[in-house]
Amino acid sequence: MIVDDADLDPCDREPHYKCSECGSDEFIVVYTDAERTTTWQLGEDHRMTEKIDSQETIGFSHERGWYVRCAHCDREIKFGWSHPERGGRIWPVEAACYNPWKSWPEARYRKGWPPRPGVKLASSGGP
Ligand SMILES: [Zn+2]
Repeated sequence: MIVDDADLDPCDREPHYKCSECGSDEFIVVYTDAERTTTWQLGEDHRMTEKIDSQETIGFSHERGWYVRCAHCDREIKFGWSHPERGGRIWPVEAACYNPWKSWPEARYRKGWPPRPGVKLASSGGP
């Protein structure tokens, strides 16, 4: 699938990600299916980069599906996708350029989206 991300470019603010608990700027993406758990580092361009050895994530116990976690304190961080049907890139709510109106929430966060009260509406609309 070819997706056009032109309307949702990552910003260059630093730190790009920041855990509201521990302040870490390293986020990881975890995907669990019936057989295994796969973990990637989340790059500043909101794409999954390096795969991380799953042994390091042995402490994770969660259900099948996609997760974003803080690499330092292991906290689950809510996130959306840049396109529907889990397409495009990953937007954690604790990213500097996060915009709830320009991302499609991961299915289990749909209820109560956007997750932060007081988030300002984008002037350019959204999905
Ligand atoms: Zn953390």
